[in-house]
Parts: sequence; C-alpha cells; structure tokens
Amino acid sequence: MEREGIELLKESIKINSTNPGDGDEKITYFYENLLRENGINASVTTNKKGYHSIYAYVAASQDSETTLAFCGHMDTVPVGDETWLYEPLGAEEIEGKIYGRGACDMKAGTLAMVLAVIEAKKNDSLRNNVFLLITGDEEVGMTGAQELATIIPKEQIDLMIIGEPTAGYVGYVQKGVLGVRLTFEGIAAHSSAPEYGINAIEHMNKVLHEVFHDRFSLPIDPHPVLGPVISNVTKINGGTGLNVIPDKAFFEMEIRTIPNMTEQMILDKFDKIISEVKGDYPDLKANVTIFKNIPPVETDISKPEVKKFNEIYEATTNKKPIYVGIPGATDAAMFGIQTLVVSFANPELAHQVNEYVTIKQFEETITLYLNVFETNFKA
Ligand SMILES: [Zn+2]
Repeated sequence: MEREGIELLKESIKINSTNPGDGDEKITYFYENLLRENGINASVTTNKKGYHSIYAYVAASQDSETTLAFCGHMDTVPVGDETWLYEPLGAEEIEGKIYGRGACDMKAGTLAMVLAVIEAKKNDSLRNNVFLLITGDEEVGMTGAQELATIIPKEQIDLMIIGEPTAGYVGYVQKGVLGVRLTFEGIAAHSSAPEYGINAIEHMNKVLHEVFHDRFSLPIDPHPVLGPVISNVTKINGGTGLNVIPDKAFFEMEIRTIPNMTEQMILDKFDKIISEVKGDYPDLKANVTIFKNIPPVETDISKPEVKKFNEIYEATTNKKPIYVGIPGATDAAMFGIQTLVVSFANPELAHQVNEYVTIKQFEETITLYLNVFETNFKA
C-alpha cells in the first residue's frame, strides 16, 4: 500500500489543478474515481461558480455514536513566474521528497485522508462514521466548502479535521476576514465652478484621515493566541476626469477578525466616525457595505472528542500535541464545525517555489488519520 500511495500522490500532483485554471474537473475525477474504485459512494456537486466538490459518507464498521468529518481541498495556487528546480507539475521524487505545486498544500493531506479511510474500511476497522469533504476553490473563494456546508448535516458532526500543512502542530483557532467598502456620494460639477458640486473625494479624505488617526481601534481585547484585530485600507477609487468635481469615491478596508468580534462593532465604529466628520461636512453622504465575511473559528479544546484526539496523537507520535493559531483562513470558516487543522507537511513550503512534501510526512499523516479512524471516540 505504501508505494501505491506514493504513486497516487504523484499522479494527483501531475494533474494541474491551479486555481484559477481549468483542471478542476480532472482533479475531481481523480478523487471520485479513487473513492468509487474502493467501494466508497462519492457524490460530486458543482456550484454556481462552476467548481466541483466531493462528499462521501462512510458508515463505521460497527454502529458508532461518533461522526467525524475530514476535509481537504483539491485546488492549488498557480505555479508562479519564478523558476523551479524541478518541473512544477512533474511530481519528481528526489531523496525522499516529492516536488510539485500542491505537494504540501495540500494534495498530500487530502490524499492521506482518502487513503486512510479506504484502508480502515477495507480492514473493517472504521470505528467512527465519517464524512469526507473534498472541496474545490479553497484558494480563491472557498465556494466549494460554502456549498458543502449547505449539503451535509453539520449538527451530526462531532469534530472535523482539516489536513492543511501544519508540521504536526494542531491549529484550533483562526482569524476571519471582513471586506468593507465605504462609498461616498457627492454632486458632479465643472471644475471651474466647484461651488455647484460636492466633492466626494474631499469627503472620503476626511473619513480616511479619521480611520488612520486611531488605527481603527475597536473595543475588543486581543485574542490570547491570534493577537489583535488588524485593519488596513487596501484600495481607493474615485473621480471621472481632470475637469470634473467627483461625485463618487470609495475606499476598501480589509479587517482580520478574531473570535467574539461582530460586524456590528465595525458598523458602530464607522457610524461614530461619519457622524463626527458630518459636524464639519454636513453634506457628507457615505454608505458602508460589508462585501466579504469569512468568520473566525475557534474550537473548544476541552471537548471530549479533542481529548480523545490528543490521546491518539500522543500514541501515534510519542509527543503531546501543541495547539496553535492558524495564520490564514481554511475551509473551516465556511463550515462552522468544531475543527482541528493538522497534518505533518511543512506549511512554510505552501505557495512557494520548489514546494514539496517528504514521503515521511505523507506517511505519518496517513498513520495519524488511520489511527483516528480506528479509534472509537466514545470508548
Ligand atoms: Zn491549503
């Protein structure tokens, strides 16, 4: 099985599934086929953006009260413009490492969970019910996970594991992302007679000044692991021509959120700023929209299922798991299920040139997942 697993990993890396790209269907077929060949009934869905995702329910070998979910994505970031040492989609094996785009993020993790569930099923040793969730479009919009979240019975799932690269650390908390746009409305006029117009850029400038003035501080303490909320103005736009008083302008902010933070805090903050600026500019018309919201995730690590996971982790690795915050967002944000993010691939290689996974990391990941599948969480 070991050599066969490595060959399958290479095969999956050779399938170009960069996102954006057109390999989504091919990589979906790879996993779907692998599951079906091994007697696992996999369903494929296509979302509004055209991305495919796979889900499969695998019942425990004997009745079980625990249902786990395992989640991995199929897409990768683009290969990039830099020159690679090895062919980026060649899956070359060099001294125990397999090189290629997606090797570490996260074809090794996704395949590890598929191979582990196949193995447990074959051996009649699957002690928990399992939902396998294999998503498309994680790297761009997370729309695959978003869609699967509407299909699967989330309330039945006791714990989800996502096999993103974490070098064996266990991620249990991650920041969210809010995208906020402030649109300013003025009145257009000829630039020779500005008194007939209202300059939307001037209004935007005043509000921007206030935003920068106190670094957009919010009434929430930093998270003990994730740290503070981080806000940045990342885009501005306005005006139509050199000789026209601009009637429209907008800016956008990206806010990296932490648990217990609400959209309302952002809206209240802007309300306050705008009403202050209105003191000087009574004509100011501003509209606040939140156009992106990936919620933060925090898993309760005192949950019995997490304690069970700790025992399995320790028995597998001879080390106690170390719990950490995940710097980016994962599909967990879309599911709202209690989630641990763990595999042995090295996250520092994700999205980099010369990305690789070692065969040892891949095999350790399969072993950990297999032990999770083969342990009765309620015993
Ligand atoms: Zn990833």
